[in-house]
Amino acid sequence: MFSKNPASSGAGVVTAQPTVLTRDQHPVSRKFISANALKVLYRLNKGGYKAYLVGGGVRDILLGKEPKDFDIATNATPEQIKALFRNCRLIGRRFRLAHIVFGRDIIEVATFRGHHENASKKEQSCQKTSKQNDEGMLLRDNIYGSIEEDAERRDFTINALYYSATDFTVHDFANGMHDINAKKIRLIGDPQTRYREDPVRMLRAIRFATKLDMTISDETEAPINELAPLLESIPAARMFEEFLKLFISGKAVANFEHLCHYNIFQYFFPALNDMLTEQQHQYVNDFIILAMSNTDKRINNNQRVTPAFLFAALLWYPLQQQIQLVKASAQLSPQDAFFEALGIIMSRQQQSIAIPKRFQTVMKDIWILQERLARRDGKRAYKAFEHPKFRAGYDFLLLRAQIEEANLPENTKGSLSELAKWWTDFQNVSPETQQQMIKATASNRSGTSARRSPRKRRKPAANNNG
Ligand code: ATP
Ligand code: MG
Repeated sequence: MFSKNPASSGAGVVTAQPTVLTRDQHPVSRKFISANALKVLYRLNKGGYKAYLVGGGVRDILLGKEPKDFDIATNATPEQIKALFRNCRLIGRRFRLAHIVFGRDIIEVATFRGHHENASKKEQSCQKTSKQNDEGMLLRDNIYGSIEEDAERRDFTINALYYSATDFTVHDFANGMHDINAKKIRLIGDPQTRYREDPVRMLRAIRFATKLDMTISDETEAPINELAPLLESIPAARMFEEFLKLFISGKAVANFEHLCHYNIFQYFFPALNDMLTEQQHQYVNDFIILAMSNTDKRINNNQRVTPAFLFAALLWYPLQQQIQLVKASAQLSPQDAFFEALGIIMSRQQQSIAIPKRFQTVMKDIWILQERLARRDGKRAYKAFEHPKFRAGYDFLLLRAQIEEANLPENTKGSLSELAKWWTDFQNVSPETQQQMIKATASNRSGTSARRSPRKRRKPAANNNG
């Protein structure tokens, strides 16, 4: 399995003897590494273990970027790590890991992984250490090994660079430095096997390509189209985590385009994907791109974003389509049709991505506000304005106005952007002017064909005379 000659093209190959870069041959300095990560490295070293910074921490520093987090690999077992750190939590089943917790900062420490074929018979038959399904997917991967084996178990060559805090060297096992310089995402080992072991590596290839402004090497790219359906077997909770990394990262538009290109987007949002592939729904595509580019802008400006807003946008048109289907099949009030459709859309969506309840609640609020923002008479405008999710609902309305205007039937053109403008003004005027605005909408409505529902009509004044 090991080769002495690292290939500069083709699949990534791990060598038994890594290239060792001394401190003067690389830019990884301790000043770029978090104090907590250094503490963990030193403590492990002092305890007599080998420990290296690996993965994104080394890779991003080499690329002149600020690492998102710091991952450490060691020859200490999870139990040995736990014995060294009071602030240690052992987590994970598929991968057993140690989290060293410093308040909100968490340093992830993983024991070197080994090969399954090298594991003893006892280990192999032990369901607790390693498990594969019929498609070759690793359900559990807890066989420990040497650093060379660990390098081979990593996904991409650029992620298999190890920094030592004892002598400040970088150990390059898979010619990762070459790929850092060539800006190539290259899987280690046979791409087919590696994707079958863990289909999420396809998503990771795309994510690193967009995040690091790199290209996916030919061999790494080739099997993606064929193997994409394996993503169906990934648990919905893991898909949710991957969704966040892809779309709440400042690179949502680029990732969306890549996922569509490789026919992968369908495994995140099947109902939406069906709409996107139909010509007459070009506006749906425009809406998604607009919502994603807004999210990207906010993230890149360090503004807060909630994934719920993006989910609401992604499922808005599938919801509208479902409402029409529900209405066509049963006599329901608009409100009942809305909730019926919402139930159908959400339960289907949950099979692909498990959206946590707290985000589902906000999505519903944003959707319900669309209807409530349109009805502004009496106290309704104030009630909508005081809604805790008013801002998100209003922002959503602005997005819709931008896209739907161009696609609405002629006779309703202008109404959505007028509504959006009304709410923009409403937020910027005095309470007196707000009252006038509400009165003006009410009289506009009585001047047009607007009707009040009989149930809501107040009793005629004459009846109150006693
Ligand atoms: P970032 O944290 O910036 O997203 P990262 O490369 O650090 O990027 P992590 O998910 O933090 O990614 O994983 C840390 C390291 O663990 C990776 O660099 C890689 O070496 C290894 N790794 C993570 N996920 C996989 C996987 N599915 N298959 C193989 N190796 C993996
Ligand atoms: Mg990381």
